[in-house]
Amino acid sequence: MTLTNAQEFTRAQAAMPGGVNSPVRAFGSVGTTPRFFTSATGPYVTDVEGREYVDLVGSWGPAILGHAHPAVVKAVQDAASRGLGFGASTPGETSLAELIEARVTRDGVRPIEKVRLVSTGTEATMTAIRLARGATGRDLIVKFAGHYHGHSDGLLAEAGSGVATLAMPGSAGVPAAVAAQTLVVPYNDLDALGEVFAARGDDIAAIIVEAAPANMGIVPPALGFNAAIADLAHAHGALLIVDEVLTGFRVGPAGWYGVDPVPFTPDILTFGKVVGGGLPLAALGGSAAIMELLAPLGPVYQAGTLSGNPLAVAAGRATLDHLDDNAYRRIDRASTEIAAAAASALSAEGVTHVIQRAGNLFSVQFAEVAPHDYASVKAQEAFRYPPFFRAMIDAGVSLPPSVFEAWFVSAAHDDAAIGRIIDALPTAARAAAQA
Ligand code: PMP
Repeated sequence: MTLTNAQEFTRAQAAMPGGVNSPVRAFGSVGTTPRFFTSATGPYVTDVEGREYVDLVGSWGPAILGHAHPAVVKAVQDAASRGLGFGASTPGETSLAELIEARVTRDGVRPIEKVRLVSTGTEATMTAIRLARGATGRDLIVKFAGHYHGHSDGLLAEAGSGVATLAMPGSAGVPAAVAAQTLVVPYNDLDALGEVFAARGDDIAAIIVEAAPANMGIVPPALGFNAAIADLAHAHGALLIVDEVLTGFRVGPAGWYGVDPVPFTPDILTFGKVVGGGLPLAALGGSAAIMELLAPLGPVYQAGTLSGNPLAVAAGRATLDHLDDNAYRRIDRASTEIAAAAASALSAEGVTHVIQRAGNLFSVQFAEVAPHDYASVKAQEAFRYPPFFRAMIDAGVSLPPSVFEAWFVSAAHDDAAIGRIIDALPTAARAAAQA
């Protein structure tokens, strides 16, 4: 017997906390029943009730070629037929590492000489931080308010994404001694960062930054911000960890590293989402000197039973192989069209809003002036988003269930899918206006 979405949610809540395995899936902040999906193809997802939606979540980023891209599915099937995992090295892992090292380049510079594959973005940033501490012999980490780097203890202070959606200051269960090792600074504020370095510079192991923040909605870096914080970190003997889990291989072939208007010099880069093609895989990379501090060569320990899993490696390689200039052109074009349609629908209803962009990433913010940090993001009229979201999903468009998230467009968003989004927007804009 097939159940409705509501019945599935009741069943799920009895079996799992909040009925979910990741908090924002509970749709708590948008006030409607979460949809339980059974299949997805191209730009569409289908729920247990057989309803199809144009999808702008894209599995939170990985589905950049569209869902169930035939080449990616075939690569995974082929890999599966040869064994699901060996807990030993495979040639494919080396090929994926080589692909990452070759793609992340700008003006002939290659910041990544060595890569380690892990299974989640959380592991990638956690390992990057341990590596920075191991490399510098220092303990303190600087992060920016509203940035999200996964759910490890030290990185939840004033975090974006679900922590922002649920309006949580951080997380219970993080020892005070651990939280004290993280200094949180307002984003896009070089003066504040400079003060922190002036006071504690000798103890700071690294700054960790989202290459272009996308977990408080999109808040692009001020011109030259990444380059300036790299310089500041390096002047004090600290490292710069640039988190490209979300932007990596999405905003361009070399991620944000390749498109930032002012080039910057990262020490460690982290990747996830797109690099795993929809399966659990993430990565970190940097110079050989830093990366070789990892065990077995160096004193910084990191390991994983499923690291470099052959199915995930196959999905990642097939995805990167198909992310050519044409794919990026399609994503950029679809993203420009959808953002423009959202803006014009909201303007037609007189809804105060801005659309912030970072490459092909964008989000709608209900503010008069483009927010530049977490405080200004939080000051927007966020209450307009839930009715907007509900009208869109009722009309068959699945948006991220929070105003603090990016809209994920794929290369499969063709005119038909974009047309459905455009058709749904006027009613949603009216709902936002009436909120
Ligand atoms: N860093 C960034 C920038 C992210 O967007 C995310 C996930 N949204 C993470 C880290 C954590 O990745 P994961 O959910 O795979 O642990």
